[in-house]
Amino acid sequence: MKFNLIQNIQGYTFFRDDLFPFLGGGNKGRKMNEIGKFVLSNSYNALVTTGGFQSNHCRAVAVFAAQNKMDCTLVIHGSKDSFLKQSGNAKIMRLSGAEIVFVNEPKEIGYEMDEAMQRYNKKNKKPFYIFGGGHNIEGGYAYVKSIKELQRYKIKHSWEPKYIFLASGTGSTQSGILAGLDKFNFENTKVIGVSVARKSSQAEKIVDELYQSLCVSYQISYTKRTSIVLDDYLCGGYGLYDKNIEEVARTSVKNFGVTLDCCYTAKAFHGMIDFMNKNNINKRDVLFWHTGGIFNFMAEANQ
Ligand SMILES: *Cc1c(COP(=O)(O)O)cnc(C)c1O
Repeated sequence: MKFNLIQNIQGYTFFRDDLFPFLGGGNKGRKMNEIGKFVLSNSYNALVTTGGFQSNHCRAVAVFAAQNKMDCTLVIHGSKDSFLKQSGNAKIMRLSGAEIVFVNEPKEIGYEMDEAMQRYNKKNKKPFYIFGGGHNIEGGYAYVKSIKELQRYKIKHSWEPKYIFLASGTGSTQSGILAGLDKFNFENTKVIGVSVARKSSQAEKIVDELYQSLCVSYQISYTKRTSIVLDDYLCGGYGLYDKNIEEVARTSVKNFGVTLDCCYTAKAFHGMIDFMNKNNINKRDVLFWHTGGIFNFMAEANQ
């Protein structure tokens, strides 16, 4: 059976990266799959990265390391005691065999990551340093390639989105999508990121930088698409949400048979619906890029 990640549910087109074939799925699974190819082909044998208790990225790195029998160090921000009580991504990280280092302050993260790199070097290992969120050129490239799947869908169904909406954090998913739309000639598609953490100006700048770098690195003709990241739905920052977002999360299974979590995808879906209403956009013209977050959904204690 050929399983398509692009699905129409209740009139909305979803790109189901929540189902990307990797433990826990999601955009971090897709990014790690691509980063992993680079890691293996350059014979790195240890991984060092960072994130929070429920980091999808740290989970993906830890799972990849386990699958490939690599050493792995995760620098986690927060207290060990609270981490041990968490399910979801934290549980997968604990059971993966990765070394976990805890820091109290975000400013200590860089130091601990450098220390881990040095420990591996002293043991004659070849460690690879991965920025939080998998925000690097390979991670972005995973999304350039994903647009080929969208192109196949476009040809098969004679349909292309006028708008792609997604949850935007470090911005590499959005950057990769923008470069991919250039590569596969989607001239009429706009991308709208819904910020889950940053203010628009900063988020758009970062999306733009990686978008341009991807075009240069992979010889894609750059069409200077505008990087749009909305910060109207931030609710004060990362992990924060309001009643509307909570409602989208609570009704997601009933309404669409998918999970939308408060930290990422329900925030983005709520932002999309509000933006569509304000700008008279029909659901027939949108693609919602479901970036994952199943474990975040399961770990949320509010429903
Ligand atoms: C990390 C993450 C995002 C944001 O992706 P970026 O590439 O960092 O912008 C969105 N959704 C989920 C579920 C994530 O884990």
